[in-house]
Amino acid sequence: MRRFLIAGNWKMNTNSESAKSLASDVAAGAGNHTEKVCVLLCPPFPYLALAKEAVNGTDVKIGAQDVYFESPGAFTGEVSVDMLSDVGCFATIIGHSERRHVLGEDDVTINKKVKAALAGGLGAVLCVGELLEERDAGNTETVLDTQMAGGLVDITSEQMEKIVIAYEPVWAIGTGKVATPDQAESVHAHLRNWLESRYNSDVAESTRILYGGSVKANNARTLLEQQNVDGALVGGASLKADSFVPIIEAAADLSTS
Ligand code: PEP
Repeated sequence: MRRFLIAGNWKMNTNSESAKSLASDVAAGAGNHTEKVCVLLCPPFPYLALAKEAVNGTDVKIGAQDVYFESPGAFTGEVSVDMLSDVGCFATIIGHSERRHVLGEDDVTINKKVKAALAGGLGAVLCVGELLEERDAGNTETVLDTQMAGGLVDITSEQMEKIVIAYEPVWAIGTGKVATPDQAESVHAHLRNWLESRYNSDVAESTRILYGGSVKANNARTLLEQQNVDGALVGGASLKADSFVPIIEAAADLSTS
């Protein structure tokens, strides 16, 4: 049985004070829902340690938004897996659409990051998603298959235990245009089939596939109700406990475990 995961991607937002209070407000609001739902908060690098401190003693986990694949050394501006583990990160987002499309990351780089994260004991939330023109041209599945294959080169079925897939249609991120539950379910089912062909049915059944793209308190439930939607990666609505905690509550409510 896959446990829901609700992850907040704070992107390049917050400051030390708001990061601390947001993390502690979410932890307080999540309360005992964390028995049923995994909650992951991904603040900007400078605030990871203080967010970790703010959630200490709770089951809320802290993750990064990105990582570099090299070991510590002369890589100005980059942050290593060891550093993220050192400040208490549980996982890192990799291949977010903004990194692919704004910062020019390709599947080869993304795969190096996935491999480095796993080798260093961090979990990875691997993001995949199509552009609107790719969807309109009927290429959604081909684009996703390429991103999945590229991001998971050399990743074994055992290593898949530490990987979560996040399906984030680019046209839905930060736009308010959420995928319909049917659109999300159809892609998630496709991704699960892909995992079955590339790995096996155990991996397909156990890997969580999150939906991301304009998830809010008022649409979370119908998305999370879909059979193959195992949680949400939330951007804008994760920046306030008042809009993020209800998403956790919706997942807890739907959770059977
Ligand atoms: C995201 O940043 O991963 C995201 C899905 O953003 P939003 O929820 O704001 O669309």
